[in-house]
Amino acid sequence: MTALTGEQELLGRGAREGGRLFRDWFDELTRAAENREHTAYVFVMGSLCELLRTFDVHTVFPEITSLQTAVRKVSDEYLNLAEDRGFSPDVCGYVKADYALQLRKGAHPMGTIPPPSIAVLTNACNTYFKWAEIWERLYHMPTVTVDVPGTRGLHLQDPSEADLVRDKGYVLHQIEELIAHLERLTGRTFDIDRLREVLHLTNEMARDFRKVLELNRSRPAVFDAMMEGTIYLGVANALRGTPEGAEYFRDLVEEMQYKVDHSLSPLVDQKQEHRLVFVGVPCYPIFRRFYQLFSEWGGIFVSSTYMWFASGGLNYDYEYDLTRPLESLAEGLLLSVRKAGDAMLFHDQALIEAIDRYEADGVVYHPIKSCRTVSTGLADSRRMVLDQRDVLCLYIESDMMDKRVVSEAQLKNRIDAFFEGLESRRIRLGAAAPAAS
Ligand code: SF4
Repeated sequence: MTALTGEQELLGRGAREGGRLFRDWFDELTRAAENREHTAYVFVMGSLCELLRTFDVHTVFPEITSLQTAVRKVSDEYLNLAEDRGFSPDVCGYVKADYALQLRKGAHPMGTIPPPSIAVLTNACNTYFKWAEIWERLYHMPTVTVDVPGTRGLHLQDPSEADLVRDKGYVLHQIEELIAHLERLTGRTFDIDRLREVLHLTNEMARDFRKVLELNRSRPAVFDAMMEGTIYLGVANALRGTPEGAEYFRDLVEEMQYKVDHSLSPLVDQKQEHRLVFVGVPCYPIFRRFYQLFSEWGGIFVSSTYMWFASGGLNYDYEYDLTRPLESLAEGLLLSVRKAGDAMLFHDQALIEAIDRYEADGVVYHPIKSCRTVSTGLADSRRMVLDQRDVLCLYIESDMMDKRVVSEAQLKNRIDAFFEGLESRRIRLGAAAPAAS
């Protein structure tokens, strides 16, 4: 095999390494299943991974294991099995794929998923509650729900200091209860210094995650926030608070900075780009094709709400205070879950800011059948954005799991028409974007 040159080694490293780390993670879960090691089922919005790592408990993200069945084109097998057992077609596809995975004793295309010893969830999505009840019925294990107060009042005002203090205390108290559960489960005593170490690694990872987002403001953009962004999100969640995760994002900054310095676009032939913001969750059953429908026209997602609400708060400018780790963990959870909720439900103002920051030409809304949480209010958001900015908006519907409601031909028609509109607008404005070098 020919050795890679320095540049070849650097370019695409984030995608290659992301894939490798992800396979390693599934291998580790497979070993945990074989050895019956303690495993927590958690969710991307408020995973509390740092605390679980402190007790050396494995973490499974059922949203990620479910979406991987769609990326690997076998989600229909899982959805059909769940629907045969009585689930409605319009229930969240992630829940159904996971339920079928449990019926199949953890058999997954990437390995074996261990059963839960405990489930830890927040109220970031109401589906989480019912989902965890399924595991309780199947496994009779403890389920700990941390109730995180959301943003209150009109226009997402920052809470008063008094409200914030009360909310933080409320979350902290629940985290202390979770610690007691984990001590009982593992027979170990909580080690605050270990938590400090893990939080330090998350801080490093978060700093670099935000740098990566920031570097995509360059022209040309250096990664696609829907395609590569999903890989980065996978690592950010699965390896949060680990040395490997921190190193991955350090390396990713180096790769992205190189691309900025050399004006390297991920678009084939370094096409002239249409800069877009993506709203929602990708269409995983035809993930690569879905991406190509945009990239073939020079469409590149410079930002996405997915990288905001599914990053566990890494996008948000917050660092854990290592002098008071537990209080800071509570504060971080409060702020990240609150921001994730806002990014899903009230994102119009954040979208306007993203359009300005990333100099976007268009916004693509992708409501999906099986997730009302991220699909609610998108039509209103579109109206608001169109009122306030001179951009084009595309509204296309499909699903993140269920290929029965994915019509590639219909999607293509709508996407083609959108880009024709973008191209004629570009000509009309007489402001052709500078060609990539
Ligand atoms: S309804 Fe949406 S946000 Fe909630 S678990 Fe399902 S996919 Fe996730």
